[in-house]
Amino acid sequence: MSAEPGKLCHEVRVELPALVAGELDHTARAAVEEHLSFCSGCQFEWHEHELVWRCLSQCEDVDPPEELRARVRHAIAGLE
Ligand SMILES: [Zn+2]
Repeated sequence: MSAEPGKLCHEVRVELPALVAGELDHTARAAVEEHLSFCSGCQFEWHEHELVWRCLSQCEDVDPPEELRARVRHAIAGLE
């Protein structure tokens, strides 16, 4: 058994926007992905983030501007 307690759901969920944007470093990403490997609730949240992000990147065909990213993050945070 690992001494690491692992992340709690709410800790993982606040990191999902950064994860989907590719802004987490390797260590943070690994911790979130480890949690996602066994937590179906957070997997569902992650799927939603991926859908939003994929739609944004396909619709715009460019990197979303920072203002739009901030608005999306704000909207996602407001769903909690
Ligand atoms: Zn979870």
